[in-house]
Amino acid sequence: MKNIPIELSPTEEKRRDWYEIKLSNAQRRVSEFAREYQWDQFVATPLIKKFLVCSTKEQFDKEVISAFQLDPETTIPKTYSAVISQEVLLAVTPETYAENYPNGQEEHAYEKLLAHELAHAFHIRILEGKEEEMGPRWFYEGFALLVANQFEYFTEKMKKEDMQKIINTDESVSYVYYRQIMDEMLKQMDVKHAVNCARELSFRIIL
Ligand SMILES: [Zn+2]
Repeated sequence: MKNIPIELSPTEEKRRDWYEIKLSNAQRRVSEFAREYQWDQFVATPLIKKFLVCSTKEQFDKEVISAFQLDPETTIPKTYSAVISQEVLLAVTPETYAENYPNGQEEHAYEKLLAHELAHAFHIRILEGKEEEMGPRWFYEGFALLVANQFEYFTEKMKKEDMQKIINTDESVSYVYYRQIMDEMLKQMDVKHAVNCARELSFRIIL
């Protein structure tokens, strides 16, 4: 696997090795998933060209605003902790992530966060760059959660009718729910087929 340059603030420099391992593990998660579904060609070259770790949430928000040319007054949600823009992966530190998104904490949470963002980039590659064909939110978030293997185990099981409601309305809900919907959907359809069907924004499924 090609080494991706990592840009760290001076305070994070002391654990550069740790970040290298987490990024490499995140890349491995996506590559292994790709191999499992014969999607190898889409990860043959690195999904990003740089990884930038922001030492504070304020710095991260500033980077996001500048990367997406947002209004400088834009409020970035507290839980928003990583994103890819122009092949640069931006992320907060693991401590900030844990503090701002306690619900996301599980084993390997930080490398899964990085893998999640790489999974979105991987998804776009599968679609030959057609980002608008990623499908409804419940689907593309579910896909990234699946690739990164986030929230595999839940304590709170959802009722099918509640999952169906999220699908039908595409309302924004906790990622934990999107993962459950994805798992439920995959009982009746394989991932490859699902990615293809979801090219239509109106993609729906009856669970
Ligand atoms: Zn996402």
